Amino acid sequence: MGLLTIENAKTIKGEKLGYLTGILYLAPASESGVMNVCQYASEGCKADCLFTAGRGVFESVHNARVKKTLALHADREAFVQQLRKDIASLVKTAKNKKLIPAIRLNGTSDLAWLGMQLSSEFPNVQFYDYTKLPKPYLRTKSNYHLTFSRSESNHLDVLDCLSHGINVAMVFDTKRGLSLPQSWNGYKVIDGDLHDLRFLDGYQSAVIGLRAKGKARKDSPKCGTGFVLASDLFTPISRRIS
Ligand code: SF4
Repeated sequence: MGLLTIENAKTIKGEKLGYLTGILYLAPASESGVMNVCQYASEGCKADCLFTAGRGVFESVHNARVKKTLALHADREAFVQQLRKDIASLVKTAKNKKLIPAIRLNGTSDLAWLGMQLSSEFPNVQFYDYTKLPKPYLRTKSNYHLTFSRSESNHLDVLDCLSHGINVAMVFDTKRGLSLPQSWNGYKVIDGDLHDLRFLDGYQSAVIGLRAKGKARKDSPKCGTGFVLASDLFTPISRRIS
């Protein structure tokens, strides 16, 4: 079973920039029924999770992600060994296509050990992830870039990350085709939908703005979970800290 997804909307945008991206999509949070792969998932992010966006809505895609998670749960070492093979194969394909390989292992999960371990084993390959695990600045490496991911319940971690230079991804209710807010609480907003190659952002204490997709499009900033932010409503950060 090949574990990395190489062709979808996200990776195609990356190819235009010269990168061949492989993304591992597991069944998020406890969707697999056997393990929780997102220790810090919030109620809002679970409800709106990208698992419901894009290709994630198809039953066959859902089943494939559950199957991969079951495989990880059943035999972690065999799973990692398969990933090693997939990464080596992607590196070779990228070379043949004159593209630069990039790997995102937590496409719909948040397993710190997975990104840490494989980025160490492949020091010449660029890895990147989004994470809700606190203090990501302690886990970054020259070939492992991390972007923190805001939810309705991690405001203090958002501030901590921004104060350490880490960029923070936030979901806005901005419609497709419209511009995101230029800043959020004084922090520059970068359009994170232009591509998914977050390591190209570097570390600049920026907000990575994402437009709500999948179920998140129905999560109203005014009466929803709080996971999606209103793009036209400025709320001082001090009032958001609970
Ligand atoms: S932590 Fe990320 S992958 Fe996990 S449920 Fe939340 S949004 Fe989905």
